[in-house]
Amino acid sequence: MKLLTVDDSKTMRQIIQGVGATLGYEVLEAEHGLKALEVLRKSADEIAVIMLDWNMPGMNGLEVLKIIKASDDWKHIPVMMVTTESEKGHIIQAVRHGAIQYVTKPFSPEELANKILESLGMGEL
Ligand SMILES: [Mg+2]
Repeated sequence: MKLLTVDDSKTMRQIIQGVGATLGYEVLEAEHGLKALEVLRKSADEIAVIMLDWNMPGMNGLEVLKIIKASDDWKHIPVMMVTTESEKGHIIQAVRHGAIQYVTKPFSPEELANKILESLGMGEL
């Protein structure tokens, strides 16, 4: 199984890739929402967890989340929001639309690793 990071920041995608690698997961990358949907159309069966940025050009993370959760093929995949948006209103909206974790940037690699493991239904490190 693989992880998918959707983030317009290359640096952030690299950090997330590093954390995924320490957990033994290959991390697929998408730099915006449309690309994420393309990756899902091809590879949804292989994706164990999706990590979604909020602020991206084009569709924002919440819009991508809504599309994923409206799809019978994709809605079972756990989605974590990984974002600088730390307002309570944003968190509530994301959870209401089916996000199972909310990680605010900046995060420590260990924190992200633990949230990924929780999303996978595994214990903490
Ligand atoms: Mg962003």
